[in-house]
Amino acid sequence: METRLINLYTLQLIDSHLDELEYFKGDLPQKVRDLSEKVDNLKQKISEKEQEIKNLQLKSDEADLEMVTLAEKIEKYKKQLFQVKTNKQYDALTTEIDNAEKNIEELTKQIAIYDGHIQNAKGDLETFKKELVELEEELTEKQEELAKISKENEEEELTYKHKREKILVKISKSDLALYERIRKAKDGKAVVAIRRNSCGGCFNTVPIQKIVELRQNRKIFTCEQCGRILVSDYIVEESKKLI
Ligand SMILES: [Zn+2]
Repeated sequence: METRLINLYTLQLIDSHLDELEYFKGDLPQKVRDLSEKVDNLKQKISEKEQEIKNLQLKSDEADLEMVTLAEKIEKYKKQLFQVKTNKQYDALTTEIDNAEKNIEELTKQIAIYDGHIQNAKGDLETFKKELVELEEELTEKQEELAKISKENEEEELTYKHKREKILVKISKSDLALYERIRKAKDGKAVVAIRRNSCGGCFNTVPIQKIVELRQNRKIFTCEQCGRILVSDYIVEESKKLI
């Protein structure tokens, strides 16, 4: 039993240290993830905006071409006006010219609308691109910062991960499951020492009788308040020797 408790507390010491190393990185990993996501979204928005501009430009060009065709038609009709022989023919041509002119007017309005949209879209595009440059700069900065910290901690992290592997094989599946469950629920601390007759996790007083029994290291005791596994100073000292 003693060994079981020592192994569990040793695992706790290792995990707490790994947590500290992770904590030292702060919210950098999360920031890098968030920034990467923002950069990706913005790139998507930029490509959509560029496509939108392309489509609008295409429509505007088409309208422009149609206007040229119509203008040519009008020219042609106007020349034909001099050669007509009947009023009916004359009326028919003037109607054609009127229609073509109306169409040109309509297309001019349409082109102005397209151009307005294009200008707006270009404005948006420029804003997005500026934003992207800023975001990418920030991302690179954070990535470099994180890489630097990670590199500094890398060796220690590896050493502790190795220690963890070694202790894990000595812990039973059920003990490990218990440990992991409490650790997850209790902010990373599953096994705590008794401190001044109190639980080292939640600081609630532990009954003296329980402390006396606990010091015999024969059983897994948990705190009645927080549910963490409680260990004696002896277990703490023995575990420290293993690290
Ligand atoms: Zn407690």
